[in-house]
Amino acid sequence: MQNKNVLLKQIKHHINELSVNIGERPTGSAANHRAEDYIKQVFTRNKFKVTLQKFDCLDWEKNETTLNIGDTKADVEPSPYSLPCNVQAGIEVVNSIFQLEQADLSGKIAVLCGELTQEPLMPKNFRFYNSEHHQRIISLLEEKAPEAILTTSLNDKHLLPVFEDGDFDIPSVVFSKNDRDRIVNSNLPIHLRVNSKRKKTTGANVIARKGQAGQSKFVVTAHFDTKAGTPGALDNAVGVAVLLTLSEMLKETISEHVEVELVAFNGEDYFSTPGQIAYLDTYNSEFNQIKLAINCDGLGLKNNKTAISLMECSEKHAEQIESIYHSFKSIQEIPPWYQGDHMLFASAKVPTIAITSTGIFELIDTVIHTQLDTPSLIDPELILDVCLFLQEIINLEGKE
Ligand SMILES: [Zn+2]
Repeated sequence: MQNKNVLLKQIKHHINELSVNIGERPTGSAANHRAEDYIKQVFTRNKFKVTLQKFDCLDWEKNETTLNIGDTKADVEPSPYSLPCNVQAGIEVVNSIFQLEQADLSGKIAVLCGELTQEPLMPKNFRFYNSEHHQRIISLLEEKAPEAILTTSLNDKHLLPVFEDGDFDIPSVVFSKNDRDRIVNSNLPIHLRVNSKRKKTTGANVIARKGQAGQSKFVVTAHFDTKAGTPGALDNAVGVAVLLTLSEMLKETISEHVEVELVAFNGEDYFSTPGQIAYLDTYNSEFNQIKLAINCDGLGLKNNKTAISLMECSEKHAEQIESIYHSFKSIQEIPPWYQGDHMLFASAKVPTIAITSTGIFELIDTVIHTQLDTPSLIDPELILDVCLFLQEIINLEGKE
């Protein structure tokens, strides 16, 4: 086995490369392609056979966005993937679906508040889960066709958008709750300028394979894309570090009884999860060959334990896995959660382990998905433990 210190150094190096040297890497962006290249290089160096699975997506660029209320300005950010606009119009405030049904929004700027801005609206074409309530709001807006939409922020401290959807074609921005009264009560003309650009491009999943096809198949996955504006250390350079370190650990020795597939997914933080859909559409019919799928996302948070959850595992299989993780003090089992790439497999009844950090759920949209998600949050020892745990699971199978 490789020296632990060497592996720890590599883990730190991978996280640093992805979240500091490359930094934010939204699906389809130039940085996203640099991350793809880096991952591919490490897999190849470790003697895995690499496939790039390409798909279409949008890259999005934003420039100055301004909202003028008469002579004063309000703080706004475009919703990610918003189309550009330059409109001067009166506003119509809408607080509920009922009001939206009654409203005449043509030639106006719609200001969404109240029950319409309680949570992010699911993108129009999101395939895995969709809410009828959200779809109703979106189709009403498309029918009423305002010139543009202003939404209150979902977060008090920073501008958190309600829309994030490259398939929705009404330009929109998010404004701070502090400006709410000023905007809503204003009789002055509103002038909104959004300078942004959607560009058609491609992205790719990086899939690395090794071992004997037709043998017990282990699939380990982690997404490598980020939202815009975040270094994405915990979300999810750490998961990618597990894939890359595992490839190093399995470089020379792999049992003839196993096949290992390492999938760096591209699109978990993109509005329509195109990488996951491409993978599902191509490999869905082979899912019955998977002995165990493992997804890593958000593990390695300092002063926390590693949280794992077992789904769709038989009792015997679960006991086997428990007997292995019990020897790792840093790993703790928690009840399943139903969002993330592990659901690709679990919802197809594939035995699945989801891996994260116990404290992750409190950090979503306060630290995660923001500029605060940096390597200083991470304890590489926790990540190494996960790699050793997975190596043991794979080795155990190899001995059978
Ligand atoms: Zn993630």
